[in-house]
Amino acid sequence: MRKIHVSYRLPISFEKKDGKTVPKPSAGGLATALVSTASEGDSKALWLGVADISSTKWESLKSEIKSDADLVPIFLPISLNALFYRGFSNSVLWPLFHYFPSFVEFKEEYLDAYKQANAEMAQKVVENYEEGDLIWIHDYHFMLLPSLVRKLLPNAKIGFFLHIPFPNFEVFRLLPSEVKVMLLQGVMGASLVGFQTWGYTSSFMECVENVLGKSHVAYQFEECAHSCRVAVFPISIDFETFNASYDDPATIFCRKELLHKYKDKRIIFSVDRLDYTKGVMYRLQAFDLFLEQHPEWRGKVVFILVIVPSREEIEKYWERRQMIETNINRINHLYGNYYYSPVVYHYQSVSFAQLTGFFSAADLVLISPVRDGMNLVAKEFVATRRDQKGVLMLSELTGAADELREAILFNPLDTKQMAEQINVSLLMGEEEQTQRMKRMQTHLRKHDVFHWASHFWSSLDQSYGQKSPMVCIDAEQIGNLLSEFSKAERRLILLDYDGTLIRFFPQPDMAKPDEKLKELLKRIATDSKTTAAIVSGRDHHTMDNWFGDLPLWLIAEHGAYVKKTQWKSQVGKSPAWKQNVKNIMTKFSETYEGSFIEQKTLGVVWHYRNMDDRAGFDASRSLIGQLKSYLLDAKAVVLDGNKVVEVKPSGSDKGQVLSSVFDLSEYDFVLAIGDDRTDEDLFDALDDGKAYTIKVGDGPTKARFRLKGVNDVIALLTRLG
Ligand code: UDP
Repeated sequence: MRKIHVSYRLPISFEKKDGKTVPKPSAGGLATALVSTASEGDSKALWLGVADISSTKWESLKSEIKSDADLVPIFLPISLNALFYRGFSNSVLWPLFHYFPSFVEFKEEYLDAYKQANAEMAQKVVENYEEGDLIWIHDYHFMLLPSLVRKLLPNAKIGFFLHIPFPNFEVFRLLPSEVKVMLLQGVMGASLVGFQTWGYTSSFMECVENVLGKSHVAYQFEECAHSCRVAVFPISIDFETFNASYDDPATIFCRKELLHKYKDKRIIFSVDRLDYTKGVMYRLQAFDLFLEQHPEWRGKVVFILVIVPSREEIEKYWERRQMIETNINRINHLYGNYYYSPVVYHYQSVSFAQLTGFFSAADLVLISPVRDGMNLVAKEFVATRRDQKGVLMLSELTGAADELREAILFNPLDTKQMAEQINVSLLMGEEEQTQRMKRMQTHLRKHDVFHWASHFWSSLDQSYGQKSPMVCIDAEQIGNLLSEFSKAERRLILLDYDGTLIRFFPQPDMAKPDEKLKELLKRIATDSKTTAAIVSGRDHHTMDNWFGDLPLWLIAEHGAYVKKTQWKSQVGKSPAWKQNVKNIMTKFSETYEGSFIEQKTLGVVWHYRNMDDRAGFDASRSLIGQLKSYLLDAKAVVLDGNKVVEVKPSGSDKGQVLSSVFDLSEYDFVLAIGDDRTDEDLFDALDDGKAYTIKVGDGPTKARFRLKGVNDVIALLTRLG
């Protein structure tokens, strides 16, 4: 098996040495883990990314490149790359996904470049793909790629992992409609979609539901030709390497230097890429407040603040640098003197030994992003502290905060709280420091980057490529059904009505059964060996009018009313919430032309079949939101049906009524057919592997079989009657 990675950057960079460009492999644990999680018999991994040098230069340096993976660059024209990377990726997706909507600069040309770069990468993937390869696509630069590759390689196992947060719907919806749909559909081309935390996963599910109207079964979406599973894979670090560094001579040297230089001071340390998401301004404000409110610490503590240069060509980044530097100068001026600078600032990247030197010398590491997909620095600090000393203060708005519960967690916007916790952390006793470090280390030792990568690969390997689109019940299976039906002595036939026995009409009362359909139902129901029932969401008056003269059981309002000879209510009196639900729905029917309300005996329905598809769908999301918050503690269920939103009493679904009305053990043949989400309760209740459960149309289902549409249902029933 071969593994293919696709990411914006290749695991290699180029640096100038003595006026010559030379390749330098990425030192990070991530790149190592991603290529080193090979199983026995695996071929060398392939890594596709965007080259940051020209193709001529690449060719001339190719022989000098050393990497554990075979590297495949794509060469994008400089202007296209800028619009793609700096533009759409880092001036639209990055700020929006990190909850900085006011920093978003949306331009059509950015979007065009994003589409083009994704399309070019898709071509490159296809050129390099061999049957059986696993493809892992990384991050927000390539959100369209999974579905572009899926179109060209329908059978491929494609994984997508988002390294940054996924925002909630209220933020995601700020994108133009076309872009929202494009990004979500793009990602869902993958067989496996991974996020850093449960929070980001549920935001993604919420957006898919609201924008695409797709529902999932156990975090799995059934797309027309493949399944897409969504799961959580918190990224991690190379624990052992950081842990071992504590006793490495280079790290010891750096640590000793620091401890000597600041021998009479406590050390607070932080390191981040220059980015507005990292909350450095809040951190400085809190440090300022700490020195103001705790003068006893002045002269006794230094804050070593390392900022690693990043994306300076984007205005928001160099602006941020200026703000940070102005603030540092202010604090140093306020509390410092000729011999003492409270903030020791470095605007540069640091070597591994320096980094681990800082980590191991620090009394406190202070990490305060206002949003961060994970934050590896936090995990690296914990791993480095083989001595199990030092305190981690970590923003609760990072992905890492979900796992590192023994850190001192705080809200970075609450600078007063942060200032107080700096004091508390510096006063923390060694025993407590050790207890906290120990627990976090136990977790990270097990959940390291190798565990992360191999877990993702194995989950991807277990996923499926293309499945045949909508597999309908075949001739042989129909033959079996008919033969079991004719041999059976006691048969139970349960039929949904709208969308199963009759097509949908603009108004519910237009879907009246014609004589032909009634004749067919009568033929089936009069057979003495057969018990037949219509199990519908319709109100019981309508059902009585339409079918009252047939020898059928009638089950109305999704099980709330049942009639063999006389109607019986399974629920109780009219629910208390009904009038208010009706009022909410009335506002919607008055606002949205073409929509209307249907009143049932117990429930209320808002229909939007006659509205424009998109507008109707969007309005229905808003109605569902309002109803759910109103009905929070009520005994009611909000059904998101086929162009309808219905509220009905809980405790009366089509599955529950089945067991309370029929004794299933009496029957030696059971057939249930339905098209809607409410029929899934029926299929679930009949899930014994023997009953013939048939879903009409596409979409996820628990039914064993499928039929395409109403005509096929009628054709099948005709063979029974
Ligand atoms: N890091 C680096 N160069 C440095 C200092 C740190 O590459 O000069 C590394 C750091 O060790 C960590 C990564 O950069 O592995 C930062 O990852 P994190 O998740 O904390 O933030 P990101 O930069 O990905 O937003």
